[in-house]
Amino acid sequence: MSHSNSLRRPLFIPLILAFVSTASTPSNARAQLDLESLQDEAVTWLQEYIRINTINPPGNETAGAEFFARIFEAEGVEYEMAESAPGRGNIWARLEGGDEPGIVLLHHIDVVPADERFWTTDPLSGELRDGYIYGRGALDTKTSGILHLATFLALARTETPLNRDVVFMATADEEAGGFFGAGWLVENRPDLFGNIGFLLNEGGGGSDVDGTVNFGLEVTQKVPYWLRLTATGEPGHGSRPLVSYASTKMIAALERFRLHQFEPRVIPAVQVHLSGIANRHPEPWQSRFSEMAKYVGDAEVMREFQIYDPGLHALTRNTCSITRFEGSNKINVVSPEVTAEIDCRLLPDQDPDAWLAEVRAVLGPDIEVEVLMGFTPAVSSTDTELYRTVRAVTLEEFPDAGFVPQVVGGFTDSHFFRDLDITSYGYTATATPAEDAGGVHGNDERVTELDVRRGVAMTLKILERFAATRPVLEEL
Ligand SMILES: [Zn+2]
Repeated sequence: MSHSNSLRRPLFIPLILAFVSTASTPSNARAQLDLESLQDEAVTWLQEYIRINTINPPGNETAGAEFFARIFEAEGVEYEMAESAPGRGNIWARLEGGDEPGIVLLHHIDVVPADERFWTTDPLSGELRDGYIYGRGALDTKTSGILHLATFLALARTETPLNRDVVFMATADEEAGGFFGAGWLVENRPDLFGNIGFLLNEGGGGSDVDGTVNFGLEVTQKVPYWLRLTATGEPGHGSRPLVSYASTKMIAALERFRLHQFEPRVIPAVQVHLSGIANRHPEPWQSRFSEMAKYVGDAEVMREFQIYDPGLHALTRNTCSITRFEGSNKINVVSPEVTAEIDCRLLPDQDPDAWLAEVRAVLGPDIEVEVLMGFTPAVSSTDTELYRTVRAVTLEEFPDAGFVPQVVGGFTDSHFFRDLDITSYGYTATATPAEDAGGVHGNDERVTELDVRRGVAMTLKILERFAATRPVLEEL
């Protein structure tokens, strides 16, 4: 997931470097699939993948793409690789199948920085210790990449006939907005998505709280709108204050904005999400989550909600956090220009133009508003064979688990594909222990070896049912 506050847009025409390996027949074609050795391989691949430094910035995802390229070469699988900018590699490979709409298994190669002073191991060690694999990317999201790889190669090695194309895809730059990765591919290689109807990506999955497992499959996310506000005024010396100047205009506008409440409401996808998790919460939340619309107008309840769970609360309205300020670079100089940046997240059914008009009205005429980044809202339907398959496989593995379609407050690359009308789900077949969840963008990021092994079997089962026309695992 991205939590970046930096923004870079590719403003150049990038050079495509494509490498296509010569296809050769796998020597182990139609061999029996040995799930256990595939799981062993997956653990080793994950350790190797974590050791490749793809910290963004700068990303250097080409090194990660080459890791996959080496594996595809050895397997005799055709692949293609392209850089959106020097070092910003993307790679994909396709197994051709029948005429059903194809599926993309997507993950991002880049990871966020890690401060090794707060880790008990080198963040790029991939160390296997006490049943855990440690390293930046273990949860976000190199493990999902390896689960996809293992599944893809299982289908390739067994030459399983497919009813649809299955595409493995690893991209750059998600952590900084995806404009050099998924966004760039959508823009520059639309041909890749011509026959694609489905996509599995990060953004959902399981959590394990003391043995109670809950899965969420992300169907939509709040839409980021990042704004830069600028106030201008007469400059001067700090010793002779003016009646009004850029800083005071900005402070007054931000104060109006701070006090402004965006109207809370419960959209259908959020009600489904809250109803699905209600019985996992104590009263009074259990009752409130079951009928959130009844409470959403009650300012007192909503305030309690924000304290109880800020992440879920944020799903009931458009939100903004005031995050950056820049004024004079000298204490005694009244700057002619002051800026602030605001991280806003819109409900997925919000008309952005109407919302922007509301923002401008609150800020007033003294403030210039620039949209740094804004995506289009979209929700993926749960009425699909893929949804039913993922749900069934998950509940076979975890019969007591909750399984809900989820709205998430953060964002992933999925919006690029929802814009193309591709049904995109956030789902990783892992049940992350609750105590490890803080490792996402935090310290000592780690995944259990069990999650990797089980995740391989589950992901393969999902693809076997969704895309294969004969069993893959049957030959065990
Ligand atoms: Zn991520």
